[in-house]
Amino acid sequence: MLIDTHAHVSDEKFDADRDAVLARAFAGGVGAIVEIAEEERQWPKARALAEKHPGRVFWSVGFHPHYAGDADAGLVDRMRVELDHPALVAVGEIGLDYFRNPHPPAVQKDVFEKLLRLAAEAGKPVVIHCREADAASRAAQEDMLALFQKVFTGPMPTAPRGVLHCFQGHADIARACIGLGFLVGADGPLTYPNAKALRALFEALPLDSIVLETDSPYLTPQAWRGQRNEPAYISATAQALADLKQVSLPELLEQTSLNAQRLFKVTFPSN
Ligand SMILES: [Zn+2]
Ligand SMILES: [Zn+2]
Repeated sequence: MLIDTHAHVSDEKFDADRDAVLARAFAGGVGAIVEIAEEERQWPKARALAEKHPGRVFWSVGFHPHYAGDADAGLVDRMRVELDHPALVAVGEIGLDYFRNPHPPAVQKDVFEKLLRLAAEAGKPVVIHCREADAASRAAQEDMLALFQKVFTGPMPTAPRGVLHCFQGHADIARACIGLGFLVGADGPLTYPNAKALRALFEALPLDSIVLETDSPYLTPQAWRGQRNEPAYISATAQALADLKQVSLPELLEQTSLNAQRLFKVTFPSN
């Protein structure tokens, strides 16, 4: 089964044909989608999308680091209220982004730590945005790892603590996070001809630590590059990962959907 563990179908780019996009995904073998709300105005939209497609669309309540400067004293309490929703499976995306982000690291880290603590206290997995491979992102990923070590003390839980979504960063950071109980998300860029370093990264990571995602409407796989991405296109990323791991597509789908179900503590419908 294909599970799109990270999509933004509530994005306005889907306003004209959202139902058709979801129908195409489900007809194309996608069993379930996790809709990621990345800012507070999107929370009601993601919640409503999950309510409209019960058992098919789940959602995650997030606060992307690009909005770190808007975090006020009531944010954590407002987010806590959302955690009781029956289709809510995670907290995120949350994280650190020192690349093209106006908010100083200290501000981002403060918000990120509060939201990590909220998730840990509620027993919810986290969806982490902290992903590029440039120098600023190396610093962000080191700070992320330090915060994980500070917040996630105690014994390793049986379920994953979260996922580094669309990870394109450093192999040593990925391995350290996997050691702390995190998974890593693979996306469309795995299909790009020039993405050799990214493919090498995923080739070296254990398959039981990888989930598939689209990040729709962004990160469109090579076959549709230049167009809007959508959950149905996850099949291309799945095939690229199967080729890389030298396993059959059914084996790849079985393992990655198992990983997604462990991560979100949900049994997804078999398509
Ligand atoms: Zn992201
Ligand atoms: Zn995203």
